[in-house]
Amino acid sequence: MSAAAAEWDVVVVGGGIHGAGVAQAAAAAGQRTLLLEEREPAFGTSSRSSKLIHGGLRYLETAQLGLVRESLAERAILLRIAPRLVRLVPFHIPIYRETVRKGWQIRAGLSLYWALGGFARACRFASVPRREWDGLDGLATTGLRAVFRYGDGQTDDDALVRAVLRSAASLGASLRWPARFLSAARVDGGYRVRFAEAGGETECATSALVLAAGPWIDEAQSRVTPPVERPPVELVQGAHILLEGELRSGIYYCEAPSDKRAVFVMPWKGATLVGTTETVFRGRPEEVAPLPEEIAYLRRTFANYFPRRSLDVRGAIAGLRVLPRGPGPAFRRAREVTLAVDDARAPHLVAIYGGKLTGYRSTAEKVLARLRHALAPRPPLARTEELPLEPA
Ligand SMILES: Cc1cc2nc3c(=O)[nH]c(=O)nc-3n(C[C@H](O)[C@H](O)[C@H](O)COP(=O)(O)OP(=O)(O)OC[C@H]3O[C@@H](n4cnc5c(N)ncnc54)[C@H](O)[C@@H]3O)c2cc1C
Repeated sequence: MSAAAAEWDVVVVGGGIHGAGVAQAAAAAGQRTLLLEEREPAFGTSSRSSKLIHGGLRYLETAQLGLVRESLAERAILLRIAPRLVRLVPFHIPIYRETVRKGWQIRAGLSLYWALGGFARACRFASVPRREWDGLDGLATTGLRAVFRYGDGQTDDDALVRAVLRSAASLGASLRWPARFLSAARVDGGYRVRFAEAGGETECATSALVLAAGPWIDEAQSRVTPPVERPPVELVQGAHILLEGELRSGIYYCEAPSDKRAVFVMPWKGATLVGTTETVFRGRPEEVAPLPEEIAYLRRTFANYFPRRSLDVRGAIAGLRVLPRGPGPAFRRAREVTLAVDDARAPHLVAIYGGKLTGYRSTAEKVLARLRHALAPRPPLARTEELPLEPA
């Protein structure tokens, strides 16, 4: 098979945010695009996130400045093209006597965040006057020294994935689910791909293959011949609990008393979402579930900051991060996306490891840039930073 005979320019495996983003970007570039999703869109990590479109203030602690700058730029784009899916929400950081991150450190961090965001209005911060503290959703005020307020984005992750997929389809991408990727074999000019749908198995040819299988990435990679080198990664689960009761003043960025990790307390569809945790995971990705000790940790952290609010758990959910394997706590590991390729000079295959919901659009553009030698030039249809995204 030669590239000219390929039925598809790009085949994408996975209908999470990364697969959706790559399908949209490829279709916008005029490429004939097929996306395969085994279950349903956003079945994996992309519906189990903290639902924040953020620069990642806490990544400043680990000096991931490039990631923060890029995420803030992507946040600005999404606020512009998806105003009904991504909205700016007030975030509050309470500082108590015993808080490890001191007021001056938070002020310095927020100043840097503002600078990395190009001193945009959306990145401004302020100290909340003491007289307003009682209006902060019942936040504990004993020992409270200061509260900082800044703005960051919140979305509905599942709805965002579906909106990006609709945009991809409107540009001509073919989206199939349930459709399970079975195997790919390298041939001259691309790959031969096999996948299974309800009606049976299909084989097709493509010039480029993108594996966006989230926590199933190693399994997807193992179905490719010849094998492609894989970066060493670890799956780390993160749980959220949904508590009764609505928050009215925005999101709270709290330091967990037991281990000093950042935990978010967020309004979510009339209830309160609290997360997250970091627990190394070794099972099958589809079986990930919140552990009793994670639920207890999140309830304890919430009760410490909001002692008068309900602790009734309405639901709990867990998702899996794909993080670089390494020593030390997961909390301090790099969160940048890693792209593995079959040929460093002229790849026909890109596998996506890790990454953030926030940066999906720029990740998709990077994936397409890596594949440029594999793809025939075609007249582009649109630029993804200008395509509006709408809820259904
Ligand atoms: C707890 C937690 C909180 C997070 N919070 C945030 C946040 O607030 N903001 C942020 O920016 N990022 C956040 N992230 C990161 C972000 O959610 C993920 O990086 C992103 O959702 C990963 O998307 P993905 O498309 O790579 O994977 P997934 O969403 O997991 O999608 C992979 C898809 O591939 C499909 N698939 C797998 N194998 C096959 C196959 N053989 N054939 C066909 N399809 C297949 C699966 O069914 C799945 O739908 C968070 C992550 C976690 C775990």
